[in-house]
Amino acid sequence: MKKIILTGDRPTGRLHVGHYVGSLKGRVALQNSGDFDEVYIMIADAQALTDNAEHPEKVRTNVKQVALDYLGVGIDPEKSTIFIQSAIPELPELTTYYMNLVTVARVQRNPTVKAEIQQKNFSSRVPVGFFCYPISQAADITAFRATAVPVGEDQMPMLEQCKEIVHKFNATYGETLTDPDIVLSSNKACLRLPGLDGKAKMSKSLGNCIYLSDEPKDVEEKIRSMFTDPDHIRADQPGRVEGNPVFTYLDAFCTDEHFVEFLPEYQNLDELKAHYMRGGLGDVKVKRFLNQIVQEELSPIRKRRAMWEQRLPDVLDILREGSRRAHEKAAETLADVRRAMRIDYFEQGSL
Ligand code: ATP
Ligand code: MG
Repeated sequence: MKKIILTGDRPTGRLHVGHYVGSLKGRVALQNSGDFDEVYIMIADAQALTDNAEHPEKVRTNVKQVALDYLGVGIDPEKSTIFIQSAIPELPELTTYYMNLVTVARVQRNPTVKAEIQQKNFSSRVPVGFFCYPISQAADITAFRATAVPVGEDQMPMLEQCKEIVHKFNATYGETLTDPDIVLSSNKACLRLPGLDGKAKMSKSLGNCIYLSDEPKDVEEKIRSMFTDPDHIRADQPGRVEGNPVFTYLDAFCTDEHFVEFLPEYQNLDELKAHYMRGGLGDVKVKRFLNQIVQEELSPIRKRRAMWEQRLPDVLDILREGSRRAHEKAAETLADVRRAMRIDYFEQGSL
């Protein structure tokens, strides 16, 4: 069986360091590992419209931003197919068939959808399209016969629901669809990076992000004003590292080499944490260290992104060619699906 990756992002804003550690960095590693036969990376504009129907210009602008972020982090169009979701009509077609295999109660139980409905204050005004997005996500994954889906932790319920749909479809219509596996970062801090404000998740919709395209001075300012341990008022006091996003970011980004380079009086993060917890280490010093690390990580991304920004016609060509290839692949799967569902009337040649 071919090894295939499908993953993507909603063009609701520029991508941030949460996306980077939660998914983008892993994707680039998988893309370059040579272990996969095909890699598909989707800009999920149709999904973004499910809760932005009145703001199509916002989605359009961010398709460009997300494409630049992809190229900036090192997604290579020679190795990965970058495409736009709405350019693939097979995806909504497949969604329609899957909707018959899922109950309303099952979607209502999806904890990520539940949390997002609450966060967006939808209550009973939730758009049907938004409510059904886990089903359309199952269509996205299975249309490409993905075997691996590298995403952040908030996508776990989506993958579970997708697997249920695959099993139900195969049991009903015969073995047709490929069962995908989620690929999560092995670093716990990367699974769901908290926001600068210490809130549970760095999220474009919550405005608590360090964006991959932020200028160095903005990154520095954001880190300087980050939430830490509110009870750690003076440097000589003992501080808490749990629930302190500065340390969570260090867990996500820092290596022992960073200490050699920027903070040689400590060997590793455990030593730094121990000092903070016993008192005598100020937030300013820890934040300065974090800033150096984040700047070092973002600098090549920013440069590559700026280079692509000067070549927007080429970016459009990459998306056009990627969408053409993705369309071809999805059409093959849909032919199998229609055959299995016995709705391939004109292929059979008789009724
Ligand atoms: P939105 O608020 O519009 O839903 P988002 O910031 O949640 O935006 P998505 O496009 O929904 O971003 O998610 C893209 C990918 O990034 C998914 O795989 C998701 O799991 C991952 N991701 C998003 N936020 C984080 C985070 N804070 N930490 C780790 N991974 C994340
Ligand atoms: Mg999201």
